[in-house]
Amino acid sequence: MGGLTLATLAVAGSNGEVERLSVPYDDVVRWIRTFAATIAENKGYLTELDSAIGDADHGINMDRGMQAALAKVDALPPGDVGALFKTVGMALVSSVGGAAGPLYGTLFLQLGTATAGKAEITVEDWNAALAAAVQGVQARGKAELEDKTMVDALAPARDAFATAIGEGATFADALRRSAAAGEDGMKHTIPLVARKGRASYLGERSAGHQDPGATSSYLLLSTVAQAWGGG
Ligand code: ADP
Ligand code: MG
Repeated sequence: MGGLTLATLAVAGSNGEVERLSVPYDDVVRWIRTFAATIAENKGYLTELDSAIGDADHGINMDRGMQAALAKVDALPPGDVGALFKTVGMALVSSVGGAAGPLYGTLFLQLGTATAGKAEITVEDWNAALAAAVQGVQARGKAELEDKTMVDALAPARDAFATAIGEGATFADALRRSAAAGEDGMKHTIPLVARKGRASYLGERSAGHQDPGATSSYLLLSTVAQAWGGG
């Protein structure tokens, strides 16, 4: 019984909002569950987006992967955020065929490497983990900005988070700004011509449709902000 730990310590910010300094393991699990539930709710929508410029399976793929991840997470001894992320990543890689499985698998595996052995994650930990995750996705898929992929939501979200904390934003605020940048990036995929993945086979005909992977990535970012930042 050591009193308050860092994980539970919160201070009132200048605007009166209670400012959290780190996210404990339980809240990371809560995010994974919220993300899985949000993917399940949006399964039809993601698949519909993929039917326009792909093969109509993105929602099905992501839902299968996150349900497989939840089953593994339920069996995991609690406490290690890095092990939690790695478990999710491995479940995605092993249960999802197609592009999104290995790409989201890499994203979570990189989050896991960046947070290995941690019982909670700080704002700096998340900044580093998000950067590693985006780098991993790009190393694996070779997509650059404006190739009309999940990178178009993730990379601006990474940059916005780093900028926000550089400006002294609270963790919650930085998460909200990160998610907002991800949403802009997702919408920005609509006019783009796809240069990576299945949608690139359509050439110019891929323009005018929102990328499914950028959309699921925005859901990832918005559920982080929701689970850890209260919005
Ligand atoms: P598949 O294209 O194999 O059917 P999904 O439909 O599950 O797989 O996922 C499609 C999404 O994967 C795309 O909308 C795009 O965002 C993402 N994607 C595809 N190829 C790449 C790539 N090389 N790099 C980053 N993201 C990619
Ligand atoms: Mg598909």
